[in-house]
Amino acid sequence: MNFRNKVAAIVVALALFATGTILTGCQPKGEQADVVVIGGGGAGLSAAVTAAENGAKVVLLEKMPMLGGNTLRAQTGFNAAGTKYQAEEGITDTADVHFQDTMKGGKDKNDPELVKTLTENANESLEWLNGLGTSLTKIQLLGGATNARTHAPTEGGYAGPVMIKCMEKAARDKGVEILLETKATEITVDKNGKVTGVKATDKDGKEIEFGAKAVVIATGGFGANNEMVAKYNAKLEGFDTTNHKGATGDGIVMAEAAGAALKDMEYIQIHPTVVPGKGVLIAEGMRGKGAILVNAEGKRFVQELKTRDLVSEATLEQEGKYAFVLFDQAIRDDAQLVEAKEQQSSLVSGETLEELAEKIGVPADALVETVTKYNGYVEAGEDPDFGRTKMAAKIEVGPFWAVKVTPAIHHTMAGIAINTKAQVLDTDGNAIPGLYAAGEVTGGVHGANRLGGNALSDIIVFGRIAGKEAASFGE
Ligand SMILES: Cc1cc2nc3c(=O)[nH]c(=O)nc-3n(C[C@H](O)[C@H](O)[C@H](O)COP(=O)(O)OP(=O)(O)OC[C@H]3O[C@@H](n4cnc5c(N)ncnc54)[C@H](O)[C@@H]3O)c2cc1C
Repeated sequence: MNFRNKVAAIVVALALFATGTILTGCQPKGEQADVVVIGGGGAGLSAAVTAAENGAKVVLLEKMPMLGGNTLRAQTGFNAAGTKYQAEEGITDTADVHFQDTMKGGKDKNDPELVKTLTENANESLEWLNGLGTSLTKIQLLGGATNARTHAPTEGGYAGPVMIKCMEKAARDKGVEILLETKATEITVDKNGKVTGVKATDKDGKEIEFGAKAVVIATGGFGANNEMVAKYNAKLEGFDTTNHKGATGDGIVMAEAAGAALKDMEYIQIHPTVVPGKGVLIAEGMRGKGAILVNAEGKRFVQELKTRDLVSEATLEQEGKYAFVLFDQAIRDDAQLVEAKEQQSSLVSGETLEELAEKIGVPADALVETVTKYNGYVEAGEDPDFGRTKMAAKIEVGPFWAVKVTPAIHHTMAGIAINTKAQVLDTDGNAIPGLYAAGEVTGGVHGANRLGGNALSDIIVFGRIAGKEAASFGE
């Protein structure tokens, strides 16, 4: 190296030293924000948009190459009670009935204050979303609900993708800086335990450090991390999952390292109707619209609209631990919930019930008898076999359809302990200054079992609270 090159090298080294790159290995890209949101699913996007609406400079980190997480997979819709859309359909419902249903569905293990916050703010959060363009106005009935209160897209199709699209647009319009393929690895705290920012790695594995007044953890659940699932609930080792592959529980690990308490860690939901080996969900809304469940003998075995834990339990007691979701063309057209390519490829059809029975390998006479009896119950409005009260339609318009299903891991009710302001609590029950969490990464909202449609309300209600609180933290 000649003298001139040596001088140049020293100058570069001094510059890197001044920016901290040599000392910390951090890229210069790291920056100071008011709020850093970790996770770009529904909870993270709603927190980011709300924080930006409240004047904060927001950076959102997403480890995958695209936004959406499990929210992008959400099918049926968003629970809210007392909405104008229910009123238009003549459905009388209140936040209190929604509260009672949610507590009962969660076996009263839920934190009642969090459930109150969820149910009392769901309607307003739905309006906020619809204000961003989601148009969730069509009402569906899901298991464990006294009244139909799940709001789905007006034009049919799936709720999650619409929500992500509208919230991503709002976030970009409001100046939220979105960094994809950027994985948060650590929440940094000062000596007093106050949050100072987030460490992350970019797609090249380089470490970046972000300073922040407040951090929102919205990394979703851990349904795709079977090791972690088995750690907290050994009975579920080896189960399939409906979750996206990024649902690995990172936020729970980072929060715990920052001093957070965890809650209800054993409560992990299995969904009863998932295509074996594929992780493809056949939404509960199909049963809400009139589908039934039959076993390998062609017989019903459960009240199909019981909560997911009970229907899963009953399915696992059947021979082969599987069942068939059975419906006709009219129910299929009405529900529009099995139209995605991966669902269509799992459906089996028959012009008659006998033909369908032969194709799925169940006794034809038993299947015909089951359906004939069930149609009689629909007509009479009474189901003496299993006590189903909501029987939306007979199964009588060919072609007839069946899809083989078995329970799979779907949702983690387990997670970080929070209060009604979405503040993360430490093991003594005190809020960790500057740290917030929302969505599936938290525990306490759903208790031992989540009701269908309540996760989307959870992520938006608490995402918005977290965004607002984080934006004003320290003021
Ligand atoms: C198939 C399916 C259908 C469903 N249908 C419904 C429904 O109809 N109604 C309903 O209420 N609920 C439904 N749910 C449940 C609901 O979709 C989820 O519980 C909810 O969307 C979770 O939202 P979230 O924002 O908390 O997490 P997610 O949407 O999963 O978002 C978390 C994000 O954080 C990112 N992330 C994770 N770790 C890191 C890290 N270290 N750094 C940076 N980013 C990270 C993830 O990649 C992900 O994008 C369904 C779930 C599935 C799987």
